[in-house]
Amino acid sequence: MCGIVGYVGKERALPRVLSGLKFLEYRGYDSAGVAYLFNDEVKITKEVGRISSLEKLIDLDADSYMAIGHTRWATHGEPSVSNSHPHRIGKFTVVHNGIIENYLSLKEDLKKKGIKFLSSTDTEVIPALLDYYYKSEKDILKTIKKVIGILEGSFALGIICDDDKENIYAVRRGSPLILALDKMGMFIASDVPAILCYTNKYILLEQNEIAKINKNSYQVYDQNLKEIKKEVKTFEGSQDAAMLNGYEHYMLKEIHEEEKVYLDTLNYYVSDNSFKETMPEFKKYNNIHIVACGSAYYVGCIAKNLIENYANIPVYVEVASEYRYKKNFYDSNTLVIIISQSGETADSLEALRRAKNDGIDTLAIVNVVLSSIAREAKYTLYVKAGPEIAVATTKAFLAQTTLMALLAVRLSRKNELLKEFVGVEKYINEILSRNYLDYAKEIAKSNDTFFIGRLVDYALCLEGSLKLKETAYINSVAFQAGELKHGTISLITKGTPVIGICTCHEIAPKTISNLKEVAARGAKIIYITSEEVEDNFYDKLIILPKLADLVMPIITVIPLQLIAYEVAKLKGCDIDKPRNLAKSVTVE
Ligand code: GLU
Repeated sequence: MCGIVGYVGKERALPRVLSGLKFLEYRGYDSAGVAYLFNDEVKITKEVGRISSLEKLIDLDADSYMAIGHTRWATHGEPSVSNSHPHRIGKFTVVHNGIIENYLSLKEDLKKKGIKFLSSTDTEVIPALLDYYYKSEKDILKTIKKVIGILEGSFALGIICDDDKENIYAVRRGSPLILALDKMGMFIASDVPAILCYTNKYILLEQNEIAKINKNSYQVYDQNLKEIKKEVKTFEGSQDAAMLNGYEHYMLKEIHEEEKVYLDTLNYYVSDNSFKETMPEFKKYNNIHIVACGSAYYVGCIAKNLIENYANIPVYVEVASEYRYKKNFYDSNTLVIIISQSGETADSLEALRRAKNDGIDTLAIVNVVLSSIAREAKYTLYVKAGPEIAVATTKAFLAQTTLMALLAVRLSRKNELLKEFVGVEKYINEILSRNYLDYAKEIAKSNDTFFIGRLVDYALCLEGSLKLKETAYINSVAFQAGELKHGTISLITKGTPVIGICTCHEIAPKTISNLKEVAARGAKIIYITSEEVEDNFYDKLIILPKLADLVMPIITVIPLQLIAYEVAKLKGCDIDKPRNLAKSVTVE
C-alpha cells in the first residue's frame, strides 16, 4: 500500500524524493521518512502522519544528492516515529514495502548474536541481516543476494550502505518497484506517478532482480548476480492516467478494487475463522447507537438489521447532524458507533464529542488512519479500503459494510458465523465482471427513479438512490416497499423506472406484490434478487448469488454502484467530482 522513492543524481535529492512520495500518497500511509547523504553521512528524518509534517523537519535545500524516502502503512508495529522507515543498523539503511513473514525467528537469531532492535517492525531484520552478512561477504551485491535468499514474504527495498556513497541498491519480490532514468539522475519508485514530473522513461524490476543506480548509470542483476539487459519503457499518459491505472474514472477503478478491499478488511480482523486481537470483544454493550452522514449513515442502516438479527442487541441509527443536537437516551452500557470514511466529517466528529462529553463509550469506523474521529474515539476499527479519490464513495462503503457485518458476528458471540465470509470475494469478482449498461440506459431516459425494498434491502435502496442522485443527477427516491402506496405511488407514470431489491426471502412475496402494484401503473421494473422468480412482473432482472443474509448486502451494493456509474457516464456527468460535493465534509 505504501510507497518508496529514491534518487541519486546531479540535482538536490530531497525535493525530488518528497515530491515523488506525495504522488504516492493515494496508496495510503500513516507515517513517512527519508534517509539522505549529507556531508558524507547518512541522516534520517521520520515523522508520523502526513508528508507535509515530515517536510517541515527537513531542509529541502540541503546539499544532498542521494536519498531514499518511504511512506509507511503499518503492518507490524503501530504507526510511530521509531517504527517508521528508513531503518538503520550498522552500515545499512533500508526502506521496505511489504511483509517479512519469517521476521520473528530471524529476529530471535539476530538478538542472540547481540544485535539490538529499536522498532517493532518486521522490516528491521533486513538492515540487521545485511549488516551481519556484509562482514563476511564484504561485497554489497553478494550480501543482498545472500539476504534475499533468507527472507520470506514480500518486499520492495531501497538500500544505502555507508561504504558506498555513490549507489542506491534496490530489489523486489512481490511488492512492485521500478527504476526511472532522467538526464539529471536515476530513481527507484514503487509506481510510475512518483517520477512522472521528471521523466517518463522507466524499467520494471522483475521478481528477485537486484538493481544498482548512480548519477550516470544503472545495472540490473538476476538472482545469480549476472548482469541482465532490461527494456526501457516510455510512459505516454499523463500523471492522472498513471494513477487511474487504465480506468476511465476513479469511481470505476475503486469499484474494481472491491474484491481486494473486502479481503484486506476481512483479513485484518479474522484469521482461520477466528477473530484476531485487532477486534475487541465489546462485551458489556447491550444498546447501540450508530451515528453517521450520507452513505455511512446507510451503512449504519444495514448494520442495524445485521446486529439486531444476529446479536439481538437493539440498534438506533441517527444522522449525525441531528444526533449532535437532540436529546439522546443512553446509559453506561451504550456504545456509540461513528462511521466516517475520512474520519473528519464535522457533524460526525461533533456527535462523537457530544457522546464522549456525556461519558458514553465510542467506537470509530474509519478509513483514513489517524484522522480526528479515529484519534478521539475510545475504540477505533479501521476499514482497509485504501485512499478513495472519487467523491462518491464505493469501495469504502463496501469495506464499512464488511466490517459492520464482522462486528455483528463479534457482538453475537457466534464465531461459527465467520464461515459465511469465506469465498465472498469470488462472488464480488463475478458481479464486477458483468455489464450493466442496459439497465443504465433505462434509467438515463427518465428524470425520476424509485428504489423500493424492505428491511435491509431498504437500506440498500437508500444507498442505490443516493449514488444515482450524486453521480448522475437523477432525482431518485428510496422507499420501504410497503410505503409507496401511502402516497408516493401517485408519482408513478408510464415508463418510470422502479428498482426493486429483494434479498430477504421470507418477505419476498410482499415486495413482489408492491412491485406488481407499480408495474400495473406502467413502471419499468428492474428487479434485483438472489432467487429465481417464476412471475414475469419485471422488465429486467439481476440475479445475484444466494449467500447468507449476513454477507448479502456486501455483494448487493455492487450492481447499484455500477448502474449509477453507467448512468452518469451516459449523461456525461463529471463522475469523480460531482457538482457541489466535497469528499470530506468538514463543515457543519
Ligand atoms: N511491514 C513493514 C512495516 O510494518 C512495511 C509496511 C509497508 O509496506 O509500509 O513497517
